[in-house]
Amino acid sequence: MIEQLLILVKPDGIKKSLTGNILTKLSEARMFIIGAKAVKVDKKLAEEHYYQLKDKPFFDELVDYIQGKIYGEPWDRVLAFVYQGENAILRMRQIAGATNPEEADPVSIRGAYGRITTKGVYENVVHCSSSKLEAEREIKLWFKPEEIVNPIYSVKKVTIEKEERIIWA
Ligand code: UDP
Ligand code: MG
Repeated sequence: MIEQLLILVKPDGIKKSLTGNILTKLSEARMFIIGAKAVKVDKKLAEEHYYQLKDKPFFDELVDYIQGKIYGEPWDRVLAFVYQGENAILRMRQIAGATNPEEADPVSIRGAYGRITTKGVYENVVHCSSSKLEAEREIKLWFKPEEIVNPIYSVKKVTIEKEERIIWA
């Protein structure tokens, strides 16, 4: 089954200059990148992304982590990718490795590069959608339809009047 999923290079991946290594590892699965961008994550996006974990004791630290708060400028950003391919979710999660970097396969991205902070947050370098439903929710949260090269979900046309937009001067 052809699937899509959201992959993020988290701020620790940016700080440790791991983007190239991560993309090389992911390329072993021979999938296609159909969307890509750099994102400065605001609190709202961070909280929506991790809404299922809002009752966890580490939620506030997790929201700070995905925003790159502990690293600050210029590392307080993520790289967001939409990948597409056969059984993409399971296969990419295998390459990413288990959530806890200490339990992850040492050859996986998280096993090789992740760490647990003194506050107990798993800094595991990448985010990887975990199900088809979650992938759709996350892709729609992070990307606009026109930012993805293949039409993957149904869209509709709306007319928005008096909308302010930033354009090149
Ligand atoms: N996380 C953590 N401690 C935990 C569980 C999760 O710090 O006990 C963090 C970790 O960065 C993880 C993220 O919260 O990647 C989202 O958790 P989830 O259970 O969805 O794991 P994932 O899908 O990222 O493997
Ligand atoms: Mg998850």
